[in-house]
Amino acid sequence: MTTRSETRTTLDHLLTEIEHRNPAQPEFHQAAHEVLETLAPVVAARPEYAEPGLIERLVEPERQVLFRVPWQDDKGRVHVNRGFRVEFNSALGPYKGGLRFHPSVNLGVIKFLGFEQIFKNALTGLGIGGGKGGSDFDPHGRSDAEVMRFCQSFMTELHRHIGEHTDVPAGDIGVGGREIGYLFGQYRRITNRWEAGVLTGKGQGWGGSLIRPEATGYGNVLFAAAMLRERGEDLEGQTAVVSGSGNVAIYTIEKLAALGANAVTCSDSSGYVVDEKGVDVELLKQVKEVERGRVDTYAERRGSSARFVPGGSVWDVPADLALPSATQNELDENAAATLIRNGVKAVSEGANMPATPEAVHLLQKAGVAFGPGKAANAGGVAVSALEMAQNHARTSWTAAKVEEELADIMNNIHTTCHETAERYDAPGDYVTGANIAGFERVADAMLAQGVI
Ligand code: GLU
Repeated sequence: MTTRSETRTTLDHLLTEIEHRNPAQPEFHQAAHEVLETLAPVVAARPEYAEPGLIERLVEPERQVLFRVPWQDDKGRVHVNRGFRVEFNSALGPYKGGLRFHPSVNLGVIKFLGFEQIFKNALTGLGIGGGKGGSDFDPHGRSDAEVMRFCQSFMTELHRHIGEHTDVPAGDIGVGGREIGYLFGQYRRITNRWEAGVLTGKGQGWGGSLIRPEATGYGNVLFAAAMLRERGEDLEGQTAVVSGSGNVAIYTIEKLAALGANAVTCSDSSGYVVDEKGVDVELLKQVKEVERGRVDTYAERRGSSARFVPGGSVWDVPADLALPSATQNELDENAAATLIRNGVKAVSEGANMPATPEAVHLLQKAGVAFGPGKAANAGGVAVSALEMAQNHARTSWTAAKVEEELADIMNNIHTTCHETAERYDAPGDYVTGANIAGFERVADAMLAQGVI
């Protein structure tokens, strides 16, 4: 029987190897560290997991697709972007995960997201593997026609690699309903197939699921509520600081209000808004989703309760809860220290890996309930899997039914993470709970399916 410390040494060697084999991919290294550093107890306790090659296979994507995406802007100028799809692990089902269109996208970023997605998807309990894709294309300031041409060019290559039984992309940063529409149209045209289950996040009326747009934000609030319940508290009357102003942030703010809490902030790359009365979600939707504007416009229109702070850190605003819903590494050690000083009770990640490892460590040490993204933001991909189920059955469920399923899934994820953490001597540590529970499900399937 190997001890935990021997196992830890083996995992440390593997992490060094990962850094060597994947140079210049800091986000992927960070995600691999975050998972592997918590696995020693389970690998030491279950000898089958120490089988040579199992974790080595888990950290190596099954397939990585990189391609050129040429497109013409409205003036006829040619632009060349990069397209990525990392098909990380299909032991539990077809690769599943979003597409991100953002200038910061590179292979390392997509690999970090794809790696996270494996465990997140496993935690939902549904039959979906892990993958992620995207492009360094920046949709900001582009016309609808430009976005359409870009999406068509992107799909002209991507269509060879995806399918309802193979790989099912969806949205992420920079990819919403508009982009999914253009991508689906091009897929349908090229393949001559009405294959609804090839993409999720589709429009209502052509295969989309009700509650899919709301699911990530709603799910994160339900996860935060479950963490509070565990401590004998609830959301009623709590103040929350939310970052971001995209799909995740908007529906986080909406659900907080519905459950009696008050979100007082939102942000974008230009700065943040503090709204003493609580963010008016309908106004935010109008500014961000209809007009594709910025949060300073929200503050201008909202009147005296709201103030726009250019630059700065949204985490300076005192609150009971923090729900980072923008992007990776947006909440660092200093921000965590400020949140703790201001008495934060829970931090729940709506974005993928928004808290740095140092911030997570500090928050946990201070006794703050911390919900890692792969558990807390799994509601989005979970409802994507429900969209696939509806597409397969050629039916569509009511909003109430989807919401009920989403609530069950989020509560189950919370219970699984909580119980797994206790089982491995880390009570209250949702990071360890999520990583181990996700790992067990994927690793068991990989072992059963042989060395492939
Ligand atoms: N991009 C989302 C995530 O990070 C959703 C993926 C999906 O629905 O496939 O989980």
